[in-house]
Amino acid sequence: TRPVIVAANWKMNGCLSLVDEMTASLAKVELSENTRVIICPSFPYLASFASKQIDCNLNANIALGSQNVSEHEKGAYTGEVSTEMLNEVGVKYVIVGHSERRSLYKETSSLVAHKVAKVLNAGMTPIFCIGESEQERETGQTNTVLASQIQPVIDEIGIENFSKIVVAYEPVWAIGTGKTASPELAQETHQFIRQFIADVDLEVAKKVSILYGGSVNAANCKELFAQQDIDGGLIGGASLKVDEFSHICSAV
Ligand code: 13P
Repeated sequence: TRPVIVAANWKMNGCLSLVDEMTASLAKVELSENTRVIICPSFPYLASFASKQIDCNLNANIALGSQNVSEHEKGAYTGEVSTEMLNEVGVKYVIVGHSERRSLYKETSSLVAHKVAKVLNAGMTPIFCIGESEQERETGQTNTVLASQIQPVIDEIGIENFSKIVVAYEPVWAIGTGKTASPELAQETHQFIRQFIADVDLEVAKKVSILYGGSVNAANCKELFAQQDIDGGLIGGASLKVDEFSHICSAV
């Protein structure tokens, strides 16, 4: 069976004291054996999070992730961060292709696929984000859009590596809006995603984790995560609230 993954995407929020408070709180949370928690703060907080993990002796079910990475190895790329640097500070997961990166920073599906490959080659796990806009949903293009986002990654890394990544389905209209996809709608879309992969390789499709993201909170997480093809969540706003996020982690 696939693990339940609860990933926190702090986006450009949080501060050093939140790192302290969150690690202290997570240290006390009883996680079920099948639960994996991933915290993705901004770059400046990664190293302090990593040192806290040791201080708090957090159990191995809690890992560190970053929100982005460069597609380049090293060199004259001012402002960028490499996979090697992330590895060095203890990062295990990297969010790639978040809809905010795609829309605000013009990351294309082909660039995203390069980054996914880069992260895998560096021995870390990409959290590969996909999702349709409200207009795309309303005009019946959801499945086409998702397929066009997934296919470049399959082409780039090969289907045999696809089970090594985590997919995060985040409908853009549900991000930061308080408008969560209903469990039924989310399940239907997750099922499409898994079937799309199954059409290439059934065993890979059974193994790959597919997270839901978009206004997940303590009140709606249980029902969402209980759906057959939903393997956990990528959580924005609610991941900044220490009590609520800890509650989500222990609820699953
Ligand atoms: P919210 O949980 O704030 O809607 O954000 C979701 C998200 O984008 C996580 O990556």
